[in-house]
Amino acid sequence: MLYGWTGKRLRVDLSTGSVKVEEIDGTYREKWLGGRGFNSALLYREVGPDVEPLAPENKLIFGVGPLTGTFAPSSGRTTVTAKSPMGSPPGFGDSNMGGHWGPELKYAGYDQLVIQGKAAHPVYLWIEDGRVEIRDARHIWGKLVPEADAIIKEELGNADIHVAVIGPAGENLVRFACILNDVYRAAGRSGMGAVMGSKNLKAVAVRGTGAVSIARPDEFYSICAGIRERLRKDLMVQMLYDQGTWLLTMPANYEQGWFCWRNFQKGNHPDARLLSGENHRDNYLAHREGCFACPISCGRFSRIPGGRYAGETTGGPEYETLTAIGPRVGLLDPEAVIHNNKLVNELGMDSCSCGGAIAWAMECWEKGLLSGEDTGGLALNWGDQELVDKLIKMIARREGFGNILAEGSYRAAEHFGRGQDYTMTIKGHDMSQDDPRGLGFAFGIGFATGRRGGDHLQGLPCLELTGAFYPGLVKKILGTDEAEDRLSPVKKPEMERYQEDLKAVGDSLTQCTFTHSWSFAVQPEDMARLLSAAAGIDCDAEELLKTGGRIVHLERAYWNRLLVGRLEDKNPKRFTREPMPDGPNKGTVFPEDELIPRYYEVRGWDGETGFPLPEVLKDYDLGDIADELEIYRKKYLDKIKMSQS
Ligand code: SF4
Repeated sequence: MLYGWTGKRLRVDLSTGSVKVEEIDGTYREKWLGGRGFNSALLYREVGPDVEPLAPENKLIFGVGPLTGTFAPSSGRTTVTAKSPMGSPPGFGDSNMGGHWGPELKYAGYDQLVIQGKAAHPVYLWIEDGRVEIRDARHIWGKLVPEADAIIKEELGNADIHVAVIGPAGENLVRFACILNDVYRAAGRSGMGAVMGSKNLKAVAVRGTGAVSIARPDEFYSICAGIRERLRKDLMVQMLYDQGTWLLTMPANYEQGWFCWRNFQKGNHPDARLLSGENHRDNYLAHREGCFACPISCGRFSRIPGGRYAGETTGGPEYETLTAIGPRVGLLDPEAVIHNNKLVNELGMDSCSCGGAIAWAMECWEKGLLSGEDTGGLALNWGDQELVDKLIKMIARREGFGNILAEGSYRAAEHFGRGQDYTMTIKGHDMSQDDPRGLGFAFGIGFATGRRGGDHLQGLPCLELTGAFYPGLVKKILGTDEAEDRLSPVKKPEMERYQEDLKAVGDSLTQCTFTHSWSFAVQPEDMARLLSAAAGIDCDAEELLKTGGRIVHLERAYWNRLLVGRLEDKNPKRFTREPMPDGPNKGTVFPEDELIPRYYEVRGWDGETGFPLPEVLKDYDLGDIADELEIYRKKYLDKIKMSQS
């Protein structure tokens, strides 16, 4: 009998209509764990460097893990993976979503769903236990996310179905379109919604009535109960419950100086408290929401009580969204921010990249690099809410100037041949709203080297942000508590490596980051005990972190095969060349030239190319890709030479 995993992969080819169930064997399961690990391994093997991200040959992969659907706290998440249309060049893409969709897939009997090909017309998938149907979706093509969700549930006659769906942005191949489940839980980053739209796939509806078998149920229950009790007493968790991720506004702005104001031109604003967790909780919070089996319930559901958007309700926003379509574009009005969040969700777009594209255009306007001739007559002034509302809709529908911004800020700058210095992107992918000149230097390493470009979730090295709330923890892991200082370079490469490996484990099991890398209530030892008791295998924390490292290296190799390495591991110039102009970190820049070479050393990556060394790959049981990568390393050396000539 199989425990934890189902051991089954469902593969649907939309070009031919074929449906197959494949076995996922034990060696593969233990090598890649589940969720992110399963997906990254499949992407590496099946979606090569020449595949275009919006072509039928790309594969859209949904993965869950051995803990998904169990009683393990906060373990109901799902990773969605594909070659991303966002990067330059298009490269590795994935995104992790909460909600209840993943456990439903597991109860239907699958660890992984692979969608390939392209349907002849819009369709949606209906998975009900072992039965899979490809259904006509022409009547819901063009519908907003909540409308499509409601229509599908109505026509399938079951309100308990969980639906992962794209909005009009995904249909229109907006490069940063996202996928949402339970209406408001997004697989937001790296354009997974555009890949889904390119397949003419509007939604995947799932209902399962099976169960997850647990090898040692009493032991498993006791570990879960212990973790729940620790989470209940944990200060970080209590704050997340109280204020959601809005809690970050006050420290980010007033104490730490990394609040993203006007496309990162500054790290603070005197009125940022308008977007504080207290203000949201007291005036806009309708109720709290939790993902499957999550005792933390950091999710917000907001209601605007009065003013021009009176009565509007929406799931969220979370910190990254509220800052992307708020201060990043010069807005501090909470009602505007909640309204904009509703718009991007319902249209199905990643708020970070959408806000990033608008903010880039506004800065270019401010600096005289764009004019009314470029924008179709629009004046792009900071903080103009009417304009932001209009641009969000124009981007989703690819209308006028919105059609250019729908390509993302990196490609928009290429289109005009102007404003490249103001694209806050890494490897072509817009930054989340996090500035390493204040947030921390381990974060800066993760941004530069990140597996999907500018993004805080590469490793989420919160040891430098919240680690000091856990006395002795940073010292135990890194040998010194100096690394608790966000802006100290001490042990930051080691910190980033540790947290990246840990995050890869969490995303593969699939356990929410907030339990182990924001709060540190769950430790790698707990994860190993949970997996061992659930799946009936013996594993320890060291092995688990090694597996996380294997996943990180495979994802790195995916980029390397695209000839992306050291030259591209760079933060936006603003972070490394422009000292923070004022606030608590006045004068700070991110010391990239010092920290990235040290990170390569810590990782065992070649200092010249940024490619993992063959012996390191072998140590991670990735010897099979070492020879292949050597061919690309030689090509990359030519690329370096060309860049120097
Ligand atoms: S902590 Fe928040 S994001 Fe994480 S599983 Fe719980 S509700 Fe979802």
